[in-house]
Amino acid sequence: HTRVKMTNTTIPGADKLTDNDVILVTGGTGLFGKGIEANVKKYNLKGKWIFLSSKDGDLRNQEQCEKLFTENKPTYVIHLAAFVGGLFRNMKYKPEFWIDNVNMNNNVLSCCHKYKVKKTVSCLSTCVFPDKVTYPILESSLHNGPPHFSNDAYAYAKRMVDCLGKWFNERQRNETGDDTVRFTTVIPTNLFGPHDNFQIEDGHVLPGLMHKAKIALDTNSDFVIYGTGKPLRQFLYSVDAGHMAIWALLNYNSEEPVMISVGEDDEVSIADAAMVILDKMGFKGNVVYDTTKSDGQYKKTASNEKFKRLYPDFVFTPFDQAIEET
Ligand code: NAP
Ligand code: GDP
Repeated sequence: HTRVKMTNTTIPGADKLTDNDVILVTGGTGLFGKGIEANVKKYNLKGKWIFLSSKDGDLRNQEQCEKLFTENKPTYVIHLAAFVGGLFRNMKYKPEFWIDNVNMNNNVLSCCHKYKVKKTVSCLSTCVFPDKVTYPILESSLHNGPPHFSNDAYAYAKRMVDCLGKWFNERQRNETGDDTVRFTTVIPTNLFGPHDNFQIEDGHVLPGLMHKAKIALDTNSDFVIYGTGKPLRQFLYSVDAGHMAIWALLNYNSEEPVMISVGEDDEVSIADAAMVILDKMGFKGNVVYDTTKSDGQYKKTASNEKFKRLYPDFVFTPFDQAIEET
């Protein structure tokens, strides 16, 4: 037998981009932004792609945000910039999670509306859904109850992006009769990949575990998993997420959010994910669980049914391959 490796060969709708387009990616230097950049290179996409960092302008500041729009004149925007972090950072900096994210979102979306950007895709997260929710989670339950206490500030800030985008769509419909959807959102599950934040206390679980595995290997010490290892997560490779976000920009014409996620069957426990990392990194020492640390949400199983229905041919990178590449 010849093993045929399934892979994506194109991004649908790429032919809609021209060299006159300017695609501004806020937060373009982060994990997700780098995943988008990898796809722009891989598929040689047309247009001028600008990947912004906070050094190009602080989006919490209205004047600095406006300057980025008047100077770059974007025709498309993918809005990723956010104050983000894993469970432990979310619990520690709640006022900042609310204030910084709301300010960034208000400034960016207001500029997109003011300067008539053709399409803006903003980014929510599956951790902003109600804590008490029916599984698998559907996009339509976004506002149906309070979020988990551990990340409520982040969750409320993110949920309001959905609202603000819809209010701008509505204003445009009312004022001009144009019912083109200019604002929409994607909802990724847990992302990981190259260029992640590998800090142990402030980052997400997979890069944190990779960093801890490196230390355990180097110092011949125990490998510590925080919590019980039992919580379940759907991990999405940032390069796959980048492909899906570009797909949404060019093809998704609804203002309702679309989940971008691996399937429900691909949900793994923190312990199992840790074992894949340890296997790839060649760690054979002791594994211990620090149950004084929080587990956070037990699960947030999301349905990717809508995405798969709209883009049935999309091929996900296998988890172990993505871990290896990371
Ligand atoms: P990240 O790696 O921390 O990157 C954040 C990006 O935002 C960086 O480019 C950063 O620029 C920029 N930024 C932060 N504060 C800014 C400010 N005040 N002004 C301008 N730019 C600012 O984050 P990420 O993981 O790629 O997340 C991207 C998006 O995906 C976020 O909206 C996040 O909520 C969402 N998301 C992430 C995950 C995940 O698991 N990581 C899951 C679901 C959703 P500098 O690097 O220059 O500071
Ligand atoms: P969440 O998915 O939003 O909860 O955020 P994280 O990416 O921080 O994942 C948190 C889950 O991984 C919790 O169950 C933690 O107890 C567990 N975990 C285990 N080890 C680590 C670690 O080293 N860092 C982090 N951030 N979480 C860990």
